[in-house]
Amino acid sequence: MSNELLIVGQHLEPIISRLPPGVSTHCFWKETDQKDFFREAGPRIRIIATDAFTGASAGLMAALPNLEVVVNFGVGYDTIDTQFAKDHGITITNTPDVLNDDVADLAIGLMLAVCRRICVADRFVRDGLWREKNLFPLSTKMSGKHLGILGLGRIGMAVAKRAAAFDMPISYHSRHRRTDVDYEYYDSPITLAEAVDLLVVLVPETDATRGMVNASVMEALGPDGILINIARGPIVDEPALVKALQDGALGGAGLDVFAKEPHVPEELLTMENVVLQPHLGSATRDTRFAMAALVIQNIAAYFNGQPLVTPVDL
Ligand code: NAP
Repeated sequence: MSNELLIVGQHLEPIISRLPPGVSTHCFWKETDQKDFFREAGPRIRIIATDAFTGASAGLMAALPNLEVVVNFGVGYDTIDTQFAKDHGITITNTPDVLNDDVADLAIGLMLAVCRRICVADRFVRDGLWREKNLFPLSTKMSGKHLGILGLGRIGMAVAKRAAAFDMPISYHSRHRRTDVDYEYYDSPITLAEAVDLLVVLVPETDATRGMVNASVMEALGPDGILINIARGPIVDEPALVKALQDGALGGAGLDVFAKEPHVPEELLTMENVVLQPHLGSATRDTRFAMAALVIQNIAAYFNGQPLVTPVDL
């Protein structure tokens, strides 16, 4: 069997030196004639590695007629054409759990930063306004506020664990009610938003969740409500978010992800009740190393003829 691995995500170049001996790699972005590469090496490629930003299109997978596995660096695999993979018996692996702590930490960080206006206060000090004006406006208490989690999965549970330490009552919406928690369950995003003070978005991006947080959900969250999106940009209707913040229909937002990254709507840049991050949920050295280790374990398992470590249930 071929020992060749095609790496399509440039973020994965550092894993090459950590791959098991005997695996020969092709870096797709270095191929000057990709058509020629597909013609010559395409039929030998059975496994590819990609990252959550690059994904794997149907076109790419179709050009590799013997493709069996797509190894993804990231838990979200919305940039991979899952329908094509399913239709062609291609298995996807991802990197679940190892990033839960970091993403949950940043979600809590965004909640605190919006409530306590940490970034605005930081600028107040840096700009010399503390000396000039003396008084910084009062902010909003976070401890004890009602937290809604849209998508109580692995990361959602890690957020809930942290929020409990802030004495925050927790409610959630997922498609299924969990039997292992006693948090209050709501059967829709809108009824959840009506009930809570802060709403953290943690559903995956799918056809069913794109645009799920729409104008009505934001209106239900209300003028004092805070929206945190640390899942994927397209889950939130971005123009509706801008409008809700401009109109005061929504109190504030903490955003790690955007509809068309790295584009961020101009209007958000000047809003003091909004905290922005350049998609950093899992971006610590520790976690990226652990994610890479899982990618390598999946690749090694494949070449050793062992079961994949973290296959996705498509
Ligand atoms: P997970 O364990 O699969 O949790 C996802 C949750 O969403 C589950 O509770 C699932 O429950 C619910 N869900 C799925 N489809 C739904 C729908 N249509 N309506 C309502 N609920 C739905 O995933 P995870 O590991 O926690 O990761 C969640 C997401 O975080 C990832 O998909 C990724 O996009 C994002 N993420 C972002 C970053 C970042 O850097 N910002 C980093 C890592 C992950 P049911 O099946 O019961 O519906």
